[in-house]
Amino acid sequence: MKVNIDTSAGFCWGVVRAIDFAENELKDAGRIYSLGDIIHNAAEVKRLNDLGMETITVEDFPRLEPGSKVLIRAHGEPPSTYQKAIKYGIEIIDATCPVVAKVQERIRKFSDEEFQVVIFGKKDHAEVIGLRGVTEDRAILVLSPEEALLKVDFSRKTVLFSQTTMDRETFARIAEALRERISQLYIGSIEEEAAIEFHAKNTICGQVSGRDKKLREFARSNDVIIFAAGKKSSNGKVLFNIAREENQRVYFVEDAHEISPEWFEKAESIGITGATSTPKWQMQMIKTYIENNFS
Ligand code: SF4
Repeated sequence: MKVNIDTSAGFCWGVVRAIDFAENELKDAGRIYSLGDIIHNAAEVKRLNDLGMETITVEDFPRLEPGSKVLIRAHGEPPSTYQKAIKYGIEIIDATCPVVAKVQERIRKFSDEEFQVVIFGKKDHAEVIGLRGVTEDRAILVLSPEEALLKVDFSRKTVLFSQTTMDRETFARIAEALRERISQLYIGSIEEEAAIEFHAKNTICGQVSGRDKKLREFARSNDVIIFAAGKKSSNGKVLFNIAREENQRVYFVEDAHEISPEWFEKAESIGITGATSTPKWQMQMIKTYIENNFS
């Protein structure tokens, strides 16, 4: 039985950057606070916690010593977090991914121009909380074309954005549904020329969408796929479903010990892959675990 690691899997550069920020600080000061899990991967969080990182929430700010260093992870934060940090004398180490920071800036610009902002994203996801925060929580969140058609006010100029880790197909379907409804409402009417302004800004990260093709090839070229990611990883769920479209024998694990021997029945090749938040060392550990226990 051959065990292969997907060479295109592993941390995206935004995550590598945030971890570098944390590791540099841990080397210098031996201590840093991370606002939320630095990454949706329990094993990597534990590794950094063992080096001196502590995961906190904004509610913990009042108990921190003034001057404490708090890292903002790649997902970013809403403006209110920065204001609270100033209030409590906390030093922010801002590891917001530049891609996310750019999306925040674009959303802010449209919101300031009185556009109705619609975000294709998950309500409780940290990145979405930050994106919505720049609109003072006025942005509408949607997950499907049906929801968008129900929630959007078609009398207002509108812009559609996406959380960076969502899937392109659904984004395109939402954009199409909104465009179609706008044209149905206005075409042929005397207001046709004044039809509402609508923009669809596909802000899905290239690190995520570019992975599709390679992941599909990898899933097809192995009999069984072990997909390693944190259960909270949004990108993990999207990529897992993509792999499943190509190969029915794809199994999601957070830890090597969840692996079951019957998954490998009659399999000649096992592929190990993961999300943009899955470290290479974890995939290597899973490979060693499979080789030592099942081959
Ligand atoms: S997936 Fe893209 S947007 Fe998200 S952290 Fe990685 S590089 Fe940044």
